[in-house]
Amino acid sequence: MATVTFHGACGVVTGSATRIDWGESSVLVDCGLYQGGEELEQRNWAPFPFRPSALTAVVVTHAHLDHTGLLPRLAAEGYSGPIYCTGPSRGLVSLVLQDAGELQEEGARYARQKGYSRHPDPRPLYTSEDARQTLKLLRPVPFGADQELLPGVRLRYVRAGHLLGAASVEITAKGADGERRTWCFSGDVGRYGVPILKDPEPPADPPAALLLESTYGDRRHPEEDAAEVLGRIIEETYARGGVVIIPAFALGRTQEILYHLSRLAEAGRLDPATVFLDSPMAIDATRIYDRAESEHDEDFDALANDPLAAGRFVHCRTVGQSKALNARGEPAVIVAASGMANGGRVVHHLLHRLGDPRSAVVFAGYQAAGTRGRALLDGAETVAIYGQTAWVKAKIHQLQSLSAHADRDELLRWCRALPAPPQRIFLNHGEDPARKALAAALVDELGWPRPHLPLTGEPAPW
Ligand SMILES: [Zn+2]
Repeated sequence: MATVTFHGACGVVTGSATRIDWGESSVLVDCGLYQGGEELEQRNWAPFPFRPSALTAVVVTHAHLDHTGLLPRLAAEGYSGPIYCTGPSRGLVSLVLQDAGELQEEGARYARQKGYSRHPDPRPLYTSEDARQTLKLLRPVPFGADQELLPGVRLRYVRAGHLLGAASVEITAKGADGERRTWCFSGDVGRYGVPILKDPEPPADPPAALLLESTYGDRRHPEEDAAEVLGRIIEETYARGGVVIIPAFALGRTQEILYHLSRLAEAGRLDPATVFLDSPMAIDATRIYDRAESEHDEDFDALANDPLAAGRFVHCRTVGQSKALNARGEPAVIVAASGMANGGRVVHHLLHRLGDPRSAVVFAGYQAAGTRGRALLDGAETVAIYGQTAWVKAKIHQLQSLSAHADRDELLRWCRALPAPPQRIFLNHGEDPARKALAAALVDELGWPRPHLPLTGEPAPW
């Protein structure tokens, strides 16, 4: 008899972690960081509700920090078993965890210098060395292959779109009655028909239980041709002699934007020599995406030029190259992290260009409350940047259609593709309005049993 316990992402969209116990053995699916505000982030410091050294295996669905960001702490506190991930995930997991270790150390150093931490000696959640040690535990598993987690318990990965290497997970084990049962974890489900990565694929086994994400369970993404919208903004801005700044997440969104920019360049609407990718992490992620040929879709292969190749656009790796862009007087497109303009090099570009009415800022997706991106989209006249007040004269735009997550209809489409309806459904990784809306849709439109919305720490029998 097994028990599943939900340790995170219950009623929120970060902190994914679910444990399955079979007597003495236990497997953790994802070990994510809570993100988005101090109250949530405090949870990252809470003791693990289980002994890390007692886990038999860890299974990672994809590289995003809200699914992997506590792995270095898990390892630092005694976990030394395998961490399974898909082959294409491995490079991205390494990239984000190393970066996270450095950011943690930097944050603690900064807090100590400025003396603004409540702690007399602010410490990082974990160090880059912890992150490096964690990467030694990674065990890549190909999509579709069977991997034994412990005797009688099998893991299989299925493509989920969403991010390079992202997967849904099937875990199959024998129940107390001797019957084999599969638990399916959707992981984060991506969109259908978006370029670069293959579409989400249906899991193969009829699931006894399904743990389904519900991030956008109450929303429909608008239909728009992102390249067309982007093209018009760029042409108008270039005509004014301005610069287009695109704050973008280094993983996934940046590569999608480069794809659309490359299409515009192929159509003769954009000079690729005026496009700058200004983020070392995004440059590294772009190279990892470019090399993962097995994951590319037909849209990607149909382009005459590889949009992710090093020579397609201008890459700015060093701080000097980034600063040199400030002196540029001619029109340009600058793609830089972070996606919500809360940190990273894009903040410097905003400080430099927001006051210029010829320029434009294009947000590529959702902007959370409290971020600088949200303030700009809400029409703020000024924003504070590095203790200075920046007047907002540049035009502010948003690309609505770029999202890494399936919307309500796409989640239903993914569910319809399952080989049989699950007997039990759990909705996590979503705020309550989204979970409730999706639960109602699953009952009304698919005739499924009423889903359960688990609370943090809640156990469910297998
Ligand atoms: Zn994700």
